Amino acid sequence: MTQAPVERLRTIEAAAALHPSLPREAVIKEDMLRTGMAFSPAALELAARFKAKAYFIFSFDLVPLKDMANREHWSAPEEIWLEGGPWGFRPTIISVRLNPDSPYVIDVEGADDNGDGDAQAVLKLDGETLTTVRFPPVPEYYTRTMSNGKKVIEIAPTIEWGYLVYLTVFRICQYFGDKEECQFCDINNNYRQQIQEGRPYTGVKSIEEILEALDIIASTDSASHAYTITGGSVTRELKGMGEADFYAQYAEAIEERFPGRWIGKMVAQALPKEEARKFKDAGIQIYHPNYEIWDERLFSIICPGKSRYVGRGEWHRRILDAAEIFGPSHVIPNFVAGIEMSKPHGFTEVEDAIRSTGEGLEFFMSRGVCPRFTTWCAEPLTTLGKATPGGAPLEYHLRLLETWRDTHAKYKLPVPPGYGDPGMGRAVFSVSSFMDVITAPA
Ligand code: SF4
Repeated sequence: MTQAPVERLRTIEAAAALHPSLPREAVIKEDMLRTGMAFSPAALELAARFKAKAYFIFSFDLVPLKDMANREHWSAPEEIWLEGGPWGFRPTIISVRLNPDSPYVIDVEGADDNGDGDAQAVLKLDGETLTTVRFPPVPEYYTRTMSNGKKVIEIAPTIEWGYLVYLTVFRICQYFGDKEECQFCDINNNYRQQIQEGRPYTGVKSIEEILEALDIIASTDSASHAYTITGGSVTRELKGMGEADFYAQYAEAIEERFPGRWIGKMVAQALPKEEARKFKDAGIQIYHPNYEIWDERLFSIICPGKSRYVGRGEWHRRILDAAEIFGPSHVIPNFVAGIEMSKPHGFTEVEDAIRSTGEGLEFFMSRGVCPRFTTWCAEPLTTLGKATPGGAPLEYHLRLLETWRDTHAKYKLPVPPGYGDPGMGRAVFSVSSFMDVITAPA
């Protein structure tokens, strides 16, 4: 049953009271990430003047594009910045996940008939204004067109308020169909829907266009500090290469052209040691061999391709092997927070889900490897999103933040590199709050 909107604000206040060690901003951020946000027509009109959502890899929306009645996906911003207002928010950056039915509504207060800047975007919940909202400015490189006619936003978009250049060089995954795709992932379906919508969406980006886009960024920007190379898994061959060679060639070209300009990060499968070493040799500093979910039974159900081609035990062994190549602090595997509570196979009790996921954090953090997480967005074009459209309960996400923060502190781990500054009011990581709640060793 959908919760009546008027109850949502009270639920948030009660949840914040139950978790006094978490900043209230993080409570709202987690709830907005799992629920999505709506935009009033006035907010959409205002947002269209700012940096647009690039659909950098997945849809990260709660409804398909074809159901966006106001065509929100063409004018919504990449992220929002909450600050001030009646709740006195410290700066909080949140990735925009569209949901026209969300009780979280971005609206506009004040007139802006002549575009002179009087209008103020605000965040409302149950009709009550919580904070003011800023949209990201359009960086100069987004105004440029490349020699092949493509825009930089398509080839090298930036997220995390401009900190991270996100290079999805292969927009499709070779784990294909229900029996192979990770059940929470819409990479292939999102590719199809973007093409149907007419968005320029390059399946395989060339090294030349990546370098040209980075040339433009490097010559016009000082806010970006890291890049991520990523894309779908390569289980067979792509352009005659296996996964390591295919992705490493981009890193090699970038590092040769722009040595040391950015921190190089690679999201790829957990590869055998000698394959992973190719990333290091190409100049990559941080490796993200994402394990997605800890629980053994659920891993085989939710990640059937990874389970069959690699296997959970081998995946974990390869993560630890990679720590010998990159150093433990520079191996940062991601998991998708909340999918362990998906229907019909997941845990039904928050306590059990946290116990399982906490076990995974203990396993890695006690060995110096610090996983990070993205808050699950139950995308409707995925198996899990269809089965559990509301995602995991807020209580789960808040307990996870506490567990992650406390385990990180227990093992005195450093702040994960490649994410910018930690702490409430300073963190830029926008798809979960782990950087907002971090307590770094003194
Ligand atoms: S390996 Fe899984 S999560 Fe990664 S792109 Fe393929 S289907 Fe998606």
